[in-house]
Amino acid sequence: MSTTNYEFIVCRYGELSTKGKNRRNFTAQLVRNVRAQLKAFPTLEFKETYDRLYITLHEEDGLAVSEELKHVFGLSSFSLAIKVERDLEVIAQLATELIQKESGSTFKVLARRHDKNYEHVSDVINRHVATRILQNTDYKVNVKNPDIGIIVEIRNDAAYIMMGKIEGAGGYPVGIQGKVMLMLSGGIDSPVAGYLMMKRGVTLEAVHFASPPYTSQEAQKKVIDLAQKLTNYQSSIKVHVVPFTDIQLEIYKKVPESYAITMMRRYMLRIGERLANERHALAIANGESLGQVASQTLHSMKEITNISTLPILRPLITYDKVEIIDLSRKIDTYETSILPFEDCCTIFTPTKPTTKPNPRKVELFESKLVIEDLIDQAMENIEVIEVTKAMAEATAEVTDSFL
Ligand code: ATP
Ligand code: MG
Repeated sequence: MSTTNYEFIVCRYGELSTKGKNRRNFTAQLVRNVRAQLKAFPTLEFKETYDRLYITLHEEDGLAVSEELKHVFGLSSFSLAIKVERDLEVIAQLATELIQKESGSTFKVLARRHDKNYEHVSDVINRHVATRILQNTDYKVNVKNPDIGIIVEIRNDAAYIMMGKIEGAGGYPVGIQGKVMLMLSGGIDSPVAGYLMMKRGVTLEAVHFASPPYTSQEAQKKVIDLAQKLTNYQSSIKVHVVPFTDIQLEIYKKVPESYAITMMRRYMLRIGERLANERHALAIANGESLGQVASQTLHSMKEITNISTLPILRPLITYDKVEIIDLSRKIDTYETSILPFEDCCTIFTPTKPTTKPNPRKVELFESKLVIEDLIDQAMENIEVIEVTKAMAEATAEVTDSFL
């Protein structure tokens, strides 16, 4: 770990294949998101150029700022940096000083001239800096796989020297796509699905179906805690908690057990779609993975989603459970997801759910339900919980109607 007191962080934009107006949107949103993510560091100063964002650290701790930056989608990588005058010898001396504060034994120098009028070409810079380091330290050159890749960027105003790159979160800045309504349960899959959606630049809101008193307050808190984890990537997420008990009871009263899940999913989706439309979301996302459970066979999905007019996005559709678990550990939702509180689906799970619902039966069973009023009531009694990154704990602020 480096002991250098760095002055800057140089951020590199990701996936910038777009040009013109789209590019400007991308970078403007990215910079807004970086600022929001780093709100807790008041003395930071931001300066954006065509292809970089420069953050001046002033009194802030570079490593703490780096930890936060790792969550910002749209950054491909970033580096802690020190700025010096563009004199070759000054650059070489500073690079020598900095590398001695790093742990490693091999290095490589990678110079880039953003100012093509600079008097020395990249090769000359590379060789000059490398020679000084070889003369003054025990470091050896390793071009293929160095412990430390020294980056020297020659800009118009100065030279920036960096010891290696820190990998960014990749993807697109949250907010450059439209909004998506995520169906958020207390399980492992849906928070991971939400993470992957945000990574594509989507803004998330979430809908959760709760069945009190069959589901507990703890079960709901778990969902809020999961949303809280996702605020590492989007600073505030609205969670719409839908009271689902009456609808579920009506289904269980009138529909054979093997079709209960199919029907329940259809009503979740109907409500999810109504909510998505009210909230101007352009699609619904869920954590389904093909074949994972009875309701996630292709036959089931067809009978469940044919009631929807919005696109249903399933980022995990091809993922194995182990891959999903790996991701959930990475985004730190796993430990919360495996807490034992019952979700509405786990409580009402029938012993033998159908994997191949028959469309005529679905229609027949649905015709027996007296459900429109129940849907209206559920919609009217939605509780909106605004979960923000700033909340130290998941003590969510409850607002009583839609904002
Ligand atoms: P697990 O990780 O245990 O599979 P899960 O939440 O994925 O949990 P599933 O039964 O596989 O549970 O549900 C499939 C998808 O349906 C979920 O990923 C989620 O998007 C949605 N879903 C399930 N239950 C709820 C709920 N109570 N509220 C909102 N969405 C739900
Ligand atoms: Mg699942």
